[in-house]
Amino acid sequence: LLLFWSAAYGDAQYVLYKDASKPVEARVADLLGRMTLAEKIGQMTQIERLVASPDVLKNYFIGSLLSGGGSVPRKQATAAEWMSMISDFQKACLSTRLGIPMIYGIDAVHGHNNVYGATIFPHNVGLGATRDPDLVKRIGAATALEVRATGIQYAFAPCIAVCRNPKWGRCYESYSEDHRIVQAMTELIPGLQGDVPQNFASGMPYVAGNNKVAACAKHYVGDGGTQNGINENNTVIDRKGLMTIHMPAYLDALRKGVSTVMISYSSWNGIKMHANHELITGFLKGKLNFKGFTISDWEGIDRITSPPGANYSYSVQASILAGIDMIMVPNNYQNFITILTGHVNSGLIPMSRIDDAVTRILRVKFTMGLFENPMPDPSLADQLGKQEHRDLAREAVRKSLVLLKNGKPGDAPLLPLPKKATKILVAGSHADNLGYQCGGWTIEWQGDTGRITIGTTILDAVKAAVDPSTTVVFAENPDADFVKNGGFSYAIVAVGEHPYTETKGDSMNLTIPDPGPSTVQTVCGAVRCATVLISGRPVVIQPFLGPMDALVAAWLPGTEGLGITDVLFGDYGFTGKLPRTWFKSVDQLPMNYGDANYDPLFPLGFGLTTQGKGY
Ligand code: BGC
Repeated sequence: LLLFWSAAYGDAQYVLYKDASKPVEARVADLLGRMTLAEKIGQMTQIERLVASPDVLKNYFIGSLLSGGGSVPRKQATAAEWMSMISDFQKACLSTRLGIPMIYGIDAVHGHNNVYGATIFPHNVGLGATRDPDLVKRIGAATALEVRATGIQYAFAPCIAVCRNPKWGRCYESYSEDHRIVQAMTELIPGLQGDVPQNFASGMPYVAGNNKVAACAKHYVGDGGTQNGINENNTVIDRKGLMTIHMPAYLDALRKGVSTVMISYSSWNGIKMHANHELITGFLKGKLNFKGFTISDWEGIDRITSPPGANYSYSVQASILAGIDMIMVPNNYQNFITILTGHVNSGLIPMSRIDDAVTRILRVKFTMGLFENPMPDPSLADQLGKQEHRDLAREAVRKSLVLLKNGKPGDAPLLPLPKKATKILVAGSHADNLGYQCGGWTIEWQGDTGRITIGTTILDAVKAAVDPSTTVVFAENPDADFVKNGGFSYAIVAVGEHPYTETKGDSMNLTIPDPGPSTVQTVCGAVRCATVLISGRPVVIQPFLGPMDALVAAWLPGTEGLGITDVLFGDYGFTGKLPRTWFKSVDQLPMNYGDANYDPLFPLGFGLTTQGKGY
């Protein structure tokens, strides 16, 4: 009887990797030892939700899914609907022979921005202006909760690019041109993942638990230094420059336990980062001891085009041998899997490289408790867009505003504005446009226009802020007579850039689209006016600066417009400092603090202050 008992329920059933009391490394090794090549390659394969189905996940042992920009189940899907979608995928993965849970990634880069109703925080450039790493950490924690509210466990954030040229369309994803500010803002990582324990070994992945998500430092490395600010271009800089400007934030990220690192589309001195063995395997994994996993960018390996004649088969070989562990394929996974399998079978890629990749992916999954808690937690659903997070975003907006001008020479300052006035004008294309206020990476990959999600526009916020006796008139693009004869005490004009993401945002002239400049000139020519500039970066403003009585750089503030009026009307003081150099003319670019011929309109760190409640 004893024999029967032990055969049926005892040793025969004991599976070490399923034993949560065992150390992560032992569990990883045990599981790896049980895996077939197909199961291993599946772990390395990340596919887009749109090509996924339970059968695909089961048949190919897929280890990870993502929603790329704007890839959501339904525009206004609720947290519960997201969770049920994720659950179906997860159940399929758990039903496979070894039951390895998948990890689902999404670009939660300023809050859970793909998701309707989520709190949208200012984009990184605005957070750089706050100079407040603790605030950024709290934003990370709130973002983790909102991401978990949809059942997702992995955020492709933070972007720790050091943008050296505002012509770059991703400049707003960069906290600063100054690597020290970017380094400080890696506090988003412990916010997303939790604080690493004492005596933590730098380079180990760390995620504290169920209400935290795996983070991703991106894009390794030199993404912000490309020539002429062209996206995905070549970064030409010597090794010392790369190491002192673009690399330092990765050391902070690793110290804080970042679980994953995304490889950059860009090249360094002509070599695609996706094929750079020395920097990925040699430096990141070797010298810096990174033990989490590296992930390619979206179709990033497809863009390895040298040597001449390089095809996809070559790309798979070069990128995996360079040290990329998980490939964001993300569409044609059959092709990828077939080719990688062939490379291993033919000996082009040694099994040790595959085992290294899978070990790292499993290490992250075990560390974060995914085997114990693979399913979405319904009790977190009410975290999405909750008031506490909106209050936090509002605080971030307040602190991100940089006051560049307050009063014409000889005049009294215009700001703060009085809440009680007979009649005020709110004007400009960006005054009542939530989509513009949020910028790219919001609901749609490229961002959008209008009431794209739940939030407060500048106009909404002005109406809420002023005394009930004050009449608020809104005119998007009024003519001069209307303004002159309107009897307005003052005007607030909001203009700026239209949303863009990645390459579409590359701009060689950095001008504000029409009719922005003429709205400013018309309104400010007729009545005292405060201009609120909505932009992802410094833009050409010198020609219009004269007529403005006050100018506020508000960056891409997100859904909480009330943060702007909190400061405009003096409940809080202006405290934000420029995270970037503001150029006079684009001919000066690139121009960064410390350059020999530094001659900015406003230097890095500039920002006027006003009286108001402190924090
Ligand atoms: C971007 C990444 C992003 C990925 C997934 C790419 O185009 O470069 O930053 O994480 O898409 O959406």
